[in-house]
Amino acid sequence: MTRIRTRFAPSPTGMLHLGGIRTALYNYLLAKKYNGNFILRIEDTDRTRFVEGAEQYIIDSLKWLNIIPDEGVVNGGPHEPYRQSLRKDIYKKYAEILVKNGHAYYAFDTSEELDKMHKNLTLEGIANPQYDANSRSLMKNSLTLSSDEVQSRISNGEPYVIRFMTPNNEVIRFHDQVRGWIKVDSSVLDDKVLLKSDGMATYHLASIVDDYLMNISHVIRGEEWLPSAPLHILMYKAFGWEDVMPKFVHLPLLLKPEGQGKLSKRDAEEHGFPIFPLSWVDSQSGKTIVGFRELGYLPEAVVNFLALMGWNPGGDKELFSMDELVNDFSLERLGKSGARFNIKKAEWFNHQYIKSKSNDDLKPYIKTELVKLNITCDDSKIDKVCELVKERSNFVGDIWMHAKLFFVEPEEYEKDQFSSDAFDFIKKYISIVSDGKWIYEILHDTMNRMLIDHGYKLKDIMPTFRIILFGEHNGPDVIRSMIILGRDEVIKRVDNLILKL
Ligand code: GLU
Repeated sequence: MTRIRTRFAPSPTGMLHLGGIRTALYNYLLAKKYNGNFILRIEDTDRTRFVEGAEQYIIDSLKWLNIIPDEGVVNGGPHEPYRQSLRKDIYKKYAEILVKNGHAYYAFDTSEELDKMHKNLTLEGIANPQYDANSRSLMKNSLTLSSDEVQSRISNGEPYVIRFMTPNNEVIRFHDQVRGWIKVDSSVLDDKVLLKSDGMATYHLASIVDDYLMNISHVIRGEEWLPSAPLHILMYKAFGWEDVMPKFVHLPLLLKPEGQGKLSKRDAEEHGFPIFPLSWVDSQSGKTIVGFRELGYLPEAVVNFLALMGWNPGGDKELFSMDELVNDFSLERLGKSGARFNIKKAEWFNHQYIKSKSNDDLKPYIKTELVKLNITCDDSKIDKVCELVKERSNFVGDIWMHAKLFFVEPEEYEKDQFSSDAFDFIKKYISIVSDGKWIYEILHDTMNRMLIDHGYKLKDIMPTFRIILFGEHNGPDVIRSMIILGRDEVIKRVDNLILKL
């Protein structure tokens, strides 16, 4: 079996959204499953779309999510450089090979001449005029000019591009892992520019040459690249590289929550959910677009959520660690239709992961806040608080939000759910338990006994009890909270409320 080598090849044109991350993840999972290599290649040949900081954003996002490349712009590798703008000479050499073997040609047409061709053909009633097998004979290129003229134009420094010579009337058949066999008639394709007049390769040339030189075995990318695949197949043939052509996997889109159409930044803004892994400050507007990390998502949860948006593991299991994903991942179980984005599901995953974290992992979120407030506290209390609040936290920020009230008294008290009958009951309860041992069994049993004696149910008392302790009627288990707060603090909070009423 050939070595599995996959690549994630983003263009640094802005923030990488979750769809891109999912592509990176699937590439990573396939490579890791077969002990292969995952490569990060930066496709920055289109300098007009280059955005400062975008490459770093890609690198930081993958790092945060633990999708670590084996080779690429960060850690180098045997096929350096991994940034396409540094590989200009390589692409030029390969473009010229195609000219020599008759699969590409020099074209000298100016933009006015191209416009004119479009206009003329439109007037002749041709629906989609393009530079192709029908029109190339009307243009200024190395197929229509003498070789002397071509040579002299080139040596005079006249601008030229190199175009691929798309064959006419050829049926291109190729297999896509998700779509199955695909057939395209080459006549619908135009003669794409491979090398631009500034000497830089276009995406098509650069990616084919690099996939070949970097021994890529699988090209896993978004569905938006499917229309380019027939050209890529023709290029592999033209270079004589058919035997080592990678397998193609075009991933269906991430869809809007409503299910129709591609998930976009605008949807995220409208619905108020994130679609970018990390926050990013837009250089033009100065506005910050908040990412999953900053909103308090754990990277493991985002990875798990994304993995299942387009890949079906079979069975009911939903929680997968990265190792489990690597183990279970298979291209055969990729979905054929788009996956609907559901932020509630992302929250659910996050909650599951927070819940499953050890207290030691979560303690820092509390400790750093305590330091800010100048509060010293022994570790065992923080540990117990973690245990109690993680059950109730959906986001990392919720941990401190809930934990805070174990260290500082509430500033405000909810009024609606407060009952003075319950308060009288609680005062009586406190006066009884405050003299005894402050342990769970006693606090719990005394409460139960008193409830029976007074004909109350838990729900008659607990909302008010929580308001007394934490200011809000919803909250953690009261008896467990009383143990953590300690006798003095509980008595203090009850007395305080008597004063405040
Ligand atoms: N540079 C392309 C992008 O920005 C990569 C497409 C591919 O994977 O071939 O998505």
